[in-house]
Amino acid sequence: MKTIIANWKMNVGVRESVALARATLLTLRGRKQVPELVICPPFVALCEVHKVVARSGVSLGAQDVFWKDSGAFTGEISGRMLAEFGTTHVLIGHSERRAHLGETDAMVNLKVLYALEVGLIPVVCVGETRAQKEAGDAHKVVRDQLVCACASVRLRSRDRLYVAYEPIWAIGAGEACTLGDALEMHTMIRSVLSKLCSADQLKVLYGGSVDGENAHGFLREREVDGVLVGGASVKINQFKGVVEAACEVVVAQAS
Ligand code: PEP
Repeated sequence: MKTIIANWKMNVGVRESVALARATLLTLRGRKQVPELVICPPFVALCEVHKVVARSGVSLGAQDVFWKDSGAFTGEISGRMLAEFGTTHVLIGHSERRAHLGETDAMVNLKVLYALEVGLIPVVCVGETRAQKEAGDAHKVVRDQLVCACASVRLRSRDRLYVAYEPIWAIGAGEACTLGDALEMHTMIRSVLSKLCSADQLKVLYGGSVDGENAHGFLREREVDGVLVGGASVKINQFKGVVEAACEVVVAQAS
């Protein structure tokens, strides 16, 4: 099953989120075979978006989580709070949080361990900068991020782990990674995690300037379990193209 994750970032308020969630549901209307679709609105919109997607088959994700259930952690949101709104997935270690909010590999690891403990599916975001890519260090950087993110992780049989390979230079740039580079990276990610989880517990997604035009090229590849979509996920016509591409692949795989 292919997966599409929509990361709405801090781009929509509550009313816009509700409208966008309704429009997103319409992109699936009339389709029998659909991808797994996960919407990640801002925290403040989770409650209202939950009401829209409840019983639709569309899942709710958060854009971040703190690593404790409760306590004196002003401004933070726990996994148990997220679960109250039916949240099932959580983005962890998005490059924007690493770059602008001081999120370290150690914090990412605490969040991954905690998410698994409370039954959320962590979507661990990894990726290299342009300078690191040009220096030939992309694989080492991503491997190191993964090893740190997953330190001490022990998956139970019901647990799932998603990894989103998101080259930082491709995020919001209008220039996606080449398919060849993405596939090589996905293969490396699977190999690093092969001791930690079985093939059916792990999904490896690509993110970085995915849109209605290029989504099919990524999604038709066996190595690509899905896509994480930022900018195009709040432009419904673009996002419709991504959903259509995924539906096409899902139907082709089933036949
Ligand atoms: C993202 O922020 O995770 C992302 C992939 O953004 P965009 O699709 O806009 O590149």
